[in-house]
Amino acid sequence: MGTEPFNSFLVNRDNLSMKVIHPGSTIGVFGSGQLGRMFAIEARKMGYRVHTFSPDTDTPTGQVADVETSGDYVDLEKVETFAKSVDVVTFEFENVPSSTIETAGKFCEVHPNGSVLHTTQNRLREKQFLSSNGYPVAPFRHVRSIEELRDAVSELGCPSILKTAGFGYDGKGQSKINSPSDAEEALAGIGDSEAVLEGFIDFEKEVSVVCARSNKGEFAHYGVIENSHLDHILDVSFVPAAVSERCYSEATEIARTLAEQFNYVGTLCIEFFVTSDEDLIINEIAPRPHNSGHLTFGPAITSQFEQQVRATCGLPLGSTEFTSAAVAMANLLGDVWASGEPLWTEALFDQRIKFHLYGKTNPRPKRKMGHITAAGNDVKEVVELVRNARKRLIPTT
Ligand code: ATP
Ligand code: MG
Repeated sequence: MGTEPFNSFLVNRDNLSMKVIHPGSTIGVFGSGQLGRMFAIEARKMGYRVHTFSPDTDTPTGQVADVETSGDYVDLEKVETFAKSVDVVTFEFENVPSSTIETAGKFCEVHPNGSVLHTTQNRLREKQFLSSNGYPVAPFRHVRSIEELRDAVSELGCPSILKTAGFGYDGKGQSKINSPSDAEEALAGIGDSEAVLEGFIDFEKEVSVVCARSNKGEFAHYGVIENSHLDHILDVSFVPAAVSERCYSEATEIARTLAEQFNYVGTLCIEFFVTSDEDLIINEIAPRPHNSGHLTFGPAITSQFEQQVRATCGLPLGSTEFTSAAVAMANLLGDVWASGEPLWTEALFDQRIKFHLYGKTNPRPKRKMGHITAAGNDVKEVVELVRNARKRLIPTT
């Protein structure tokens, strides 16, 4: 936090092959959601042009970008034209097909690299990579049929969680199995041919480490962020997390080692479960800025999005120091709009409250529409502030 030194060190001074992409150049972004939007805001602030590519139009990223291309990720001709028109490519969404990244990579640099994307976009590959490299993960089994699921349930016990191997986010494609008789329905429910059964972790809390690595091997992290979820969706995040020094240093060290091992260039997030003994289990890796890192946007000297811009363009990383002792963030889902226009004036009852909306016009339930942050001296107080602000948004009549 405020007193913590900027955590940065050089590990590979020879890796200087990547050229610097100067302001005025164009950064291509695959994906067009809120992560791309906040990335685009930071990139444009630094004088870069942004060109987003996704299947949609009038997107959160497109509204802020210089150019918005609507195209299918597997339309490789369109991907080629896009890649030729930009100076470097990054992504805000890890479910971009590998062939898309490979095609783009023929015409310009892509950061982070396609191989980390390939590993992390599939839960099975990610878990196999982590466990075979000695990182702590929940017990898991590969599931391709009801027979394999029944065997896996009897081995891992109940409760356990069935997750699709690919394309899951915000708890979508997950089903909890409370008894062996739930198996059939759970498999039908996730509707995918490949799945992973995970042993249920009776965690004490969830935390994440958002970090960044540059092409020169500089590494920087934002410390340990504590997260609470509702219905498998992130609800509130805050720093500093209430964890021991040992837990803090283990979590940040795992993040550093992983970033190094992936030869990662960009912003990366590692989500963990923390057990009652303060042991860490990696839940998943996000090869991009992460929802829990939204509390860096404003309250930190360099946001997680600016780090992504810097790393993508071959610039040095910035300071990850927070300018306040404590920061909290609460997500605003579409549910907040259910009783009419949120009461923005009410929510801004305290000068430390800030809101950030993503430009989405259709506030469906569970859809991430924006977030609220508050920074101050005391962690309990700022968490209270964001929760209270969110409550005040909702009309009571
Ligand atoms: P996101 O994209 O928001 O991270 P996701 O769809 O990738 O979500 P996970 O991170 O796998 O989903 O799970 C979402 C939440 O569900 C976790 O943060 C945790 O609260 C709960 N959860 C997932 N797996 C387990 C587990 N094995 N044991 C206990 N709780 C779990
Ligand atoms: Mg998750």
